[in-house]
Amino acid sequence: MELVYDYIGIGFGPSNLALAIATQEHALRNGLAPQVCFLEKKPAFNWHEGMLIDGSTMQISFLKDLVTLRNPASRFTFVNYLKEHGRLQDFINLKTFFPTREEYTDYLSWTASHFNEQAHYGEEVISVEPHFQDGRFVAVDVLSRGPGGGVSRRRARNLVFGIGGIPQAPAAFDGLDDPRVLHSAGYRGGIEKLLTNRPGPVRVAVVGGGQSAAEIFEDLASRFDNVEASLVIRGSALKPSDDSPFVNQIFNPSFTDTIFNHSEERRGALFAEFRNTNYSVVDTDLIETIFQRMYQQKVRGEQRHRLLTNREVAHAEAVSAGIELSLRDAPHDQMHSERFDVVVLATGYRRDYHLELLAGLEQCIQGLSVDRNYRLALRAGSEAGIFLQGCCEDSHGLSDTLLSVLAVRSQEVVESIFAEYEQPCSSRPAPAHERVALKLAR
Ligand SMILES: Cc1cc2nc3c(=O)[nH]c(=O)nc-3n(C[C@H](O)[C@H](O)[C@H](O)COP(=O)(O)OP(=O)(O)OC[C@H]3O[C@@H](n4cnc5c(N)ncnc54)[C@H](O)[C@@H]3O)c2cc1C
Repeated sequence: MELVYDYIGIGFGPSNLALAIATQEHALRNGLAPQVCFLEKKPAFNWHEGMLIDGSTMQISFLKDLVTLRNPASRFTFVNYLKEHGRLQDFINLKTFFPTREEYTDYLSWTASHFNEQAHYGEEVISVEPHFQDGRFVAVDVLSRGPGGGVSRRRARNLVFGIGGIPQAPAAFDGLDDPRVLHSAGYRGGIEKLLTNRPGPVRVAVVGGGQSAAEIFEDLASRFDNVEASLVIRGSALKPSDDSPFVNQIFNPSFTDTIFNHSEERRGALFAEFRNTNYSVVDTDLIETIFQRMYQQKVRGEQRHRLLTNREVAHAEAVSAGIELSLRDAPHDQMHSERFDVVVLATGYRRDYHLELLAGLEQCIQGLSVDRNYRLALRAGSEAGIFLQGCCEDSHGLSDTLLSVLAVRSQEVVESIFAEYEQPCSSRPAPAHERVALKLAR
């Protein structure tokens, strides 16, 4: 093996993209040239492309981009992106803090294009193994499957997870593998295949009561004349997300300290108190749009689209004529079945996939909790470092899975990684066992 990286990032979404920038800026400030790389399973940079619904907007101010809260003078601010693309003045005239998701994806892609040498696309990390030296855990070997199916092995002193979530389906859909059931993560592209050029009314159930479910419901209603959409929600109404200013302070990077320093019990209580900032809630504007649509249907005496409230999917079965959903109406203690041609699950993401990848390091890991700088506790004597981003909601708060803290968190991780070295590998004298490898790598 030729090269020992300072770190390898798994995934190249916004978290690790922010990390790439923080690393570059840290290196420039300190006159260093660290060796880093990112392994991303997608064939090219993209951001939640399956939910790139026309006109959908960001739920966060553009000032919470990848860098501004840490370094507003960075060339990778959203404002500089606008300037370089000749749209700064026009964006100002839009008078908004919330760009479209389409534009934000373009900002992220533009930023990612500056790190093409570090990002290896089409590489899915499939396992991680420890590398020992004189009995000490000093590095990790990262195994990834590339576009052609071949497996590569890369070694690094540190490993940083930024893998996001895995689409999650309700238990009622366990074992149901049918192309007529889509997760919201694959909505764009998937739905067109199922609905385009299909005659007659097509009955679509959208399951979920959050922002994605509401966006999909509205998209189906506005874009497909042949669709009769039903939004199946557990609650008794669509509820608005709270983004009022006092509440929004929980997403300030400084609030991470507050959360981290609380007891587990207090953290749990705060999570419950502020859950309605992010989970099973919808932007008020969108709620109003949907309400207006339903009202207009009443005016016209047609009811093409419906909200099925207080309904939980108890059972789902694929039959030749469609997907049969058994819906439990708990408050009324009733159960009924309905058949749909297509079901879209906007039921969120699991954030435990890192555990599968970490299984190969089990013997080296002390516990599954991270310190304030996202470093996983390893057994005494270990010299490698493992950092988790996006799966530390329990310890670091609701902002951990979102974009709000990326600018600052990336710096915290970078400082924790490079504080270990007097100088990073490419500028400090390499230990004897690495000298040959590092020379080859240059
Ligand atoms: C539709 C949608 C809209 C959102 N809008 C907002 C918003 O407006 N504001 C906000 O704060 N948050 C928003 N979020 C929350 C979202 O989690 C963050 O915006 C952001 O995507 C988190 O970045 P990430 O890099 O941690 O994870 P992700 O963006 O999920 O990126 C993880 C990357 O890791 C890759 N990966 C996973 N496993 C592997 C593997 N084994 N090997 C290699 N690569 C792998 C994935 O392909 C992916 O590219 C939104 C989420 C969704 C679904």
